[in-house]
Amino acid sequence: MDVYFYNTLTRAKDKFEPLSPTEVKMYTCGPTVYRYVHIGNLRTWLMADLVRRVLEFNGYTVTQIMNITDVGHMAEDDSLTVTPGEDKVLSAAAAEKKTPAEIAAFYTADFLESLAAMNIQPAQRYPKATEHIPQMLALIEELERKGLAYEKQGAVFYDVSEFPAYGRLSGHAPEDLRAGINRVEIDETKNDPNDFLLWRTAGEHRTVKWDSKWGPGFPGWHIECSAMAMHYLGPQLDIHTGGEDLVFPHHENEIAQSEGATGKPFVRLWMHGAHLLAEGRKMSRSVGNVLRLKDLQAEGIHPLAFRLLCLGIDYRGHMNVTWDSLRAAQGSLERLRRYAVDWSADTRLTDVSHEPALAAYRRKFHALINDDLRFPQVMPLVWDMAKSDLPPAAKAGLLLGWDRVLGLGLGEMVAAPVEALVPIERALLDERAAARAAKDWATADRLRDQLAGLGIAVTDGKDGQTWSRK
Ligand code: AMP
Ligand code: ZN
Repeated sequence: MDVYFYNTLTRAKDKFEPLSPTEVKMYTCGPTVYRYVHIGNLRTWLMADLVRRVLEFNGYTVTQIMNITDVGHMAEDDSLTVTPGEDKVLSAAAAEKKTPAEIAAFYTADFLESLAAMNIQPAQRYPKATEHIPQMLALIEELERKGLAYEKQGAVFYDVSEFPAYGRLSGHAPEDLRAGINRVEIDETKNDPNDFLLWRTAGEHRTVKWDSKWGPGFPGWHIECSAMAMHYLGPQLDIHTGGEDLVFPHHENEIAQSEGATGKPFVRLWMHGAHLLAEGRKMSRSVGNVLRLKDLQAEGIHPLAFRLLCLGIDYRGHMNVTWDSLRAAQGSLERLRRYAVDWSADTRLTDVSHEPALAAYRRKFHALINDDLRFPQVMPLVWDMAKSDLPPAAKAGLLLGWDRVLGLGLGEMVAAPVEALVPIERALLDERAAARAAKDWATADRLRDQLAGLGIAVTDGKDGQTWSRK
C-alpha cells in the first residue's frame, strides 16, 4: 500500500518514494539542551515517531538521526532581531553556576527520559554539536570555496544572494525579509539582512571555542544540522522533520548550506508539526505556559495519555491542551488498557467467519495511517472495533497489532516479559499446533497471520513450530 505525507516543500500530499527502495534516511531536529523539554517539544518529536512507526509498519527500515544542540543556538535565533544574542547553553550554565557540559548532560538526560516515557522510539544516534565541529568547519570552508560564504569582522556569513533557491521552502522572499528586518534593527556586519551566521570568532572570555582558519570561535546553529545530517546520512535525505517554527529560518538555511555545498537536492520530504498551545498561545518558556510530563504525572496523567491525546488531533493543526482534555485522555487510556488485558485473557479461538470483518478493520487502519498520519480517524476506528461483536481474542489481536504504531504500551499492560508469551499468544500457538496436527493448513495460516499481527514470527520445522518476536 502506498504511503502519503504532506510535504512542506511541495505544499502537497506526496507519495512517499525513498531514494533506496527499502531504507529510509530520516533526520529530526533535536533539542537545545539548556532547559527541560516541555510537552510542546514532545508533540513535535511524537510526529517524527509516528512517521517512523508508519514506515516500519509498511516494511521500511528507517535510520533516524536526532541531534543534540549543545552549543551555538543563540537567543537571537528565536526572533528577527539580529543583535548578537547569548548562546543558550552558555547562559544557562552561567545562571545555574555549572559548566556548559554539565548543563548539556543534565538536560540531555531529561530529553531522553521524556522520549522514553512517551514511547518515542530512540533514534539510532544522537550526535552532539560539540563533537562535530570539524565537519561543520569543512562544510563552511566548502561554502567559502564556492563563493557562498564571506568573512566580515570576525564572523563568517552565508551569502544568501548567491543561492537563488533561497525561500523555496518557507515562501519567504528575500525582499520581504529585508523590509521586515529594517524595521527592527540593522546588523551592520552583514552585507544583507538575509545573510546568516555560519561561524563567529570568540572573544577572549568565551571558554567554549574551537580553532579555525578564522581564529578560535564557535559555529552558528543552522550549520550544525546540515553538517551532522550529511555526516551520518549522506548528502541526500528522505525525510527531515521539526516543528513549524523551524521552517524559517532554520530549515531554509539548512537547505541553502547543504545544497550550496553539494549541488544536490538535500531533502525530499520536509515534515513540520504544528505547535502545541496552552491557553491559546504557543507553549514556550518565554510565554511562561510550559508543562512538563512531570507536571502531568503530578496530576495523575500518564505520559501515554498525552500521547493518546495528540493522536486525536491532526499533526498539522494547532492543538490547545487543557486539563479537561488531558483527564479525558487518561480515562481513554485506562479503558484501552483494560480492553487489552481482558481481551487477551480470553483464549477462545476466533471463528473463521469473523475473518472478513477482521480484514476490513486491518485494511481501514492501514489506509488511514498511510494517508498522512490520519490518527484522528484511527481512534474512532479503535472504539468502533471495541464495540463490535468480534470475539475478544480477535479484538486483542487487532488492538495489539495496531499498537505497534499507536505506541500506547498496551502490549506491556498484558504484563509479560519479552521472553514469555502472554495468554493470547500461547493460545494462538497451541491452536496452530493443533491445526497443523489435523492438517488444517488454512487455519494454521490464518493463525500465523494473527500471530504476525501481534509481532510473533512462527517458523515450521520438522519438530513442529517455533516462534520469535519480530
Ligand atoms: P528547541 O529545543 O527549542 O530547539 O525545540 C525543539 C523542538 O520542539 C523543535 O522542533 C521545535 O520546533 C519544537 N517546538 C518548540 N515549541 C513547540 C510547541 N509549543 N509545540 C510544538 N513543538 C514545539
Ligand atoms: Zn535542526
